[in-house]
Amino acid sequence: MSLPLLQVDSVTKRFGALTASDAVTLDLRAGEIHALIGPNGAGKSTLIAQIAGGLAPDAGRVLLNGTDVTALDTAGRAAKGLARTFQISALAMEHTVLQNAVLGALGAKGGRLGLFRSVLGDQTLRKTAEAALERVGLSDAAGTVTAALSHGQRRQLEVAVALTLRPKVFLMDEPMAGLGMEGSAAMTTLLDGLRAEAPILLVEHDMDAVFRLADRISVLVAGRVIATGRPDDIRQNAEVRAAYLGDEALP
Ligand code: ADP
Ligand code: MG
Repeated sequence: MSLPLLQVDSVTKRFGALTASDAVTLDLRAGEIHALIGPNGAGKSTLIAQIAGGLAPDAGRVLLNGTDVTALDTAGRAAKGLARTFQISALAMEHTVLQNAVLGALGAKGGRLGLFRSVLGDQTLRKTAEAALERVGLSDAAGTVTAALSHGQRRQLEVAVALTLRPKVFLMDEPMAGLGMEGSAAMTTLLDGLRAEAPILLVEHDMDAVFRLADRISVLVAGRVIATGRPDDIRQNAEVRAAYLGDEALP
């Protein structure tokens, strides 16, 4: 088997007496969607923050493509191909969809915003941006001001901006949150195809989407991974079912 693109190795984080990440080990392999689920307060966001680089673990390591990135900050990890979406929306609402995608492509090249006018005329950046918009189904909205997009379209644009970075790994924090049925369905279709470009570590409360999309699911309870497996195995796992009693029901 090829080397996992992302490895979380015994990551531990304590907040006072609380162990929010308790020796968490998991990996993300080429071509897969690996969902991370767990009841509220289980430690999902804390783990994602440590993978993205915003929060330093007390112990353990994070490896990208076999390289230890534990000492790198968020920008350093992004430069190594870790794309995080949906936590902080960085879209410029007053600019068009295409302009936002071009700015994303510029960021991927380490450019600066000062030359915005000439940047928008840069054919290479523009092609990268247009390809990303096409990929997420937003070509027709390229000239639309971002503020006029629906919530679901903005999320698609966030994916397009992430795509301009040519990511090796996607970290997605609740991409379906706030989307209606139509938006969720569109996002599900998008993520389904995206895994071929870069694998996705997916935190998501929409259990129907999780069980439809995930190749593997890890279940986090009180900071600990209590199970990792294929959706069918997770659905039938007694410890997992017990952890979910009174919380979101498993489909
Ligand atoms: P989830 O995302 O699974 O709902 P979190 O990672 O947000 O869970 O939180 C896990 C636990 O860690 C919770 O008990 C939460 O209150 C606690 N926690 C998270 N961040 C902090 C912090 N900065 N300081 C203290 N406790 C925290
Ligand atoms: Mg959370």
